[in-house]
Amino acid sequence: PFDVLIVGGGPAGASAAIYSARKGIRTGIVADRFGGQVMDTMGIENFISVKATEGPKLAAQLEEHVKTYDVDIMDGQLAESLKAGGEYTEVTLKNGATVRGKTVLLATGARWRELNIPGEREYVGRGVAYCPHCDGPFFKGKPVAVIGGGNSGVEAAIDLAGIVKHVTLIEFQDELRADDVLQRKLRSLPNVDIITSAQTTEVNGDGNKVTSLTYKDRKTEELRQIDLDGVFVQIGLLPNTDWLKGSGVELTRFGEIEIDTHGRTSLPGVFAAGDVTTVPYKQIVIAMGEGSKAALAAFDHLIRTSAP
Ligand code: FAD
Repeated sequence: PFDVLIVGGGPAGASAAIYSARKGIRTGIVADRFGGQVMDTMGIENFISVKATEGPKLAAQLEEHVKTYDVDIMDGQLAESLKAGGEYTEVTLKNGATVRGKTVLLATGARWRELNIPGEREYVGRGVAYCPHCDGPFFKGKPVAVIGGGNSGVEAAIDLAGIVKHVTLIEFQDELRADDVLQRKLRSLPNVDIITSAQTTEVNGDGNKVTSLTYKDRKTEELRQIDLDGVFVQIGLLPNTDWLKGSGVELTRFGEIEIDTHGRTSLPGVFAAGDVTTVPYKQIVIAMGEGSKAALAAFDHLIRTSAP
């Protein structure tokens, strides 16, 4: 068995592996896809101390850094269930194998809910974006749309309005669902339009980047087009926790793993870090900090509970 068994190989899992291995304890990492969301990212300009990089490059550097330590990397392996309660916590993989850890650290991340419309996938990183903190500045002085009138959509629109030329907020329902205080703030901004009862049907581009989007006015069934450079999709973030249902790890109603300040979950010896947890603001530097913190907490747990 491992002293620390990490599930997930994104920024949180990689940082946890390095912090754990540096304690000289047996560390293993199971990842469906090493690098995680970073692999899908084009430009990264907020990874502090690195002015600009690209996702696949950062992911390769993460892997290289982890590999300088004695870490057992099980890449391309999907965890399907977790069983805690005994001396070891067991993680069962899709290939049928079971891996065990004195402690387990969950870092399976999250994924953005997609619109699933033509043009969306094609133009990710070329106009289609999911993270205003990450990609907002790329659209400085340009017109953009935000899809989704919940809290995250309205927050994104307010945030972007301060950077870009113009924001069109598009909501499927007849009214916005965001908190009143956010809606009031949004409506006070001079460079924001709000369109409700609108179904976004297509992201259009010139083969190179986004040029417009098409939506259907749900009242009149008319199709309309808006010329723009960016589309921020804000219709939800889905934590990768389906495999944990029934394991006893407490999840919020959004499916996020509940953690305390040390990254401890509701199960003793089971820790969690990064986008899969309740930690606010899902970002690379935050996931890395959280992964390191949870690994130190796991080490602390081991020195208190394990025989020498
Ligand atoms: P993830 O990166 O999601 O990694 C999760 C890991 O768990 C992966 O290895 C995955 O394969 C694995 N996994 C999932 N389920 C299982 C399972 N059942 N079994 C085994 N393994 C599993 N952040 C920034 O700071 N700056 C940016 O510029 C930026 N741009 C972004 C652009 C895009 C398009 C996207 C999608 C995200 C962007 N982010 C950015 C957000 C950032 O990528 C995430 O906050 C960060 O990757 C979270 O790290 P994580 O380790 O918690 O999770």
